[in-house]
Amino acid sequence: MSKKRNNPETIAIHGGDYRCDPATNAVAVPIYRTTSYQFNNTEHAANLFALKEFGNIYTRIMNPTNDVLEKRVAALEGGLACLTVSSGQTASTFAVLNVAQAGDNIVSSTDLYGGTVSLFTHTLSKLGVEIRYADPSNPENFEKLIDDKTRAFYGETLPNPYLRVFPIQEVSDIGRKYNIPLIMDNTAAPVICKPIEHGAAVVIHSLTKYIGGHGTAVAGSIVDSGNFDWTADPKRQPLFNEPDASYNNVIWGKAVPELTGANVPFAVRARVCLLRDLGSALAPDNAFAIIQGLETVALRMKQHCSNAEQVLNFLKKHKEVTKVIYSTEHNTQFADRAKKYLKGGNGPMIGIELKGGIEAGKKFIESLRMFYHVANIGDVRSLAIHPASTTHSQLNEKELAASGVTQSYVRLCIGIEHIDDIIEDLDQALNKSSKGNLKAVS
Ligand code: PLP
Repeated sequence: MSKKRNNPETIAIHGGDYRCDPATNAVAVPIYRTTSYQFNNTEHAANLFALKEFGNIYTRIMNPTNDVLEKRVAALEGGLACLTVSSGQTASTFAVLNVAQAGDNIVSSTDLYGGTVSLFTHTLSKLGVEIRYADPSNPENFEKLIDDKTRAFYGETLPNPYLRVFPIQEVSDIGRKYNIPLIMDNTAAPVICKPIEHGAAVVIHSLTKYIGGHGTAVAGSIVDSGNFDWTADPKRQPLFNEPDASYNNVIWGKAVPELTGANVPFAVRARVCLLRDLGSALAPDNAFAIIQGLETVALRMKQHCSNAEQVLNFLKKHKEVTKVIYSTEHNTQFADRAKKYLKGGNGPMIGIELKGGIEAGKKFIESLRMFYHVANIGDVRSLAIHPASTTHSQLNEKELAASGVTQSYVRLCIGIEHIDDIIEDLDQALNKSSKGNLKAVS
């Protein structure tokens, strides 16, 4: 693809090297429903396994449908390589396990999706990987938690429920002084933020959300920026500098640039070690579904964000609403970060707190007619949920407070329906929220 075509609208449709199916000339990306690929001869097979040649071996590790999606997502984020996996949760898990082993630690933002908090605090800690939490209001909090076992920093671009934009460049700059890569979860802000341009080394997505957009497939991705020197400090990144006994003692940080000509050991190691061993491959049918969504992501993000701005103005004036949480509605420091990192829109999500507190919040959700009451974000449809009793219900009081979920917080994901219909639905539900009690939302 021409280097000049660097616009997300075009990349989402044409990014990568797929023009048409080489066997049939089909323009739409075919679903390659195969587990295996015939080797040309024994030498070809041996070369593929030895990474002397790159090609298809087995669908747990690679698939041609997934490959098209991977190249497009890498191009959209401005990275060099991408790995797709079965879910966003797998993307977060692999991103951490690709740098950290038992005894190591990661310094993560406190502002995280609830499922990521559970993964980090409970499952990864049981595997011996410690997650240290830093409040991103001050980027220096990350520096204070580093020791010689710190392998990465981790943050979310536009984390809900706080909706405080993460200081990507500030934290990345600190990390680079210590050869620590920044992993960014950009799930809530594709197109409107490109974390790699601000120094992130790795960008993950739950493709289930805005990139897929239609709520029809669960998927995840991990993009390797190619901008991080994994060999600069061998003690800091042992998994990229010590011989890997599981793969003929290869040293990933050196071998991958030599074999591929590209500085993408992170993506290659995640594929040939973690996908090989842990599975969690993305089914090609789901890759196909995500490709359909990806084609319109730039258009949809514009509409999500412009609808959200109008909803914001409506909610700020509504008598039942006591607080509105939005990327630009914080103190100057966070509002300035929104200005610096978000381009072409300030995000699709809005939080609200209602005059009648938690009961009013529940009644409001149950009174919505067009909005869906679901756990998902990033659907074309408008969505609402009460996080404290659902998505964040497995967090304790301390974790809830750290992640910004109050008992009365209601999260709205503004869809791409007509703005008049969105506001009409919100208005009628808000007006009912303070009148009488309905049964509790489970
Ligand atoms: N990251 C963020 C920011 C999310 O919102 C989610 C899911 O809501 C995930 C990761 C996990 O993604 P998935 O549901 O695809 O596993």
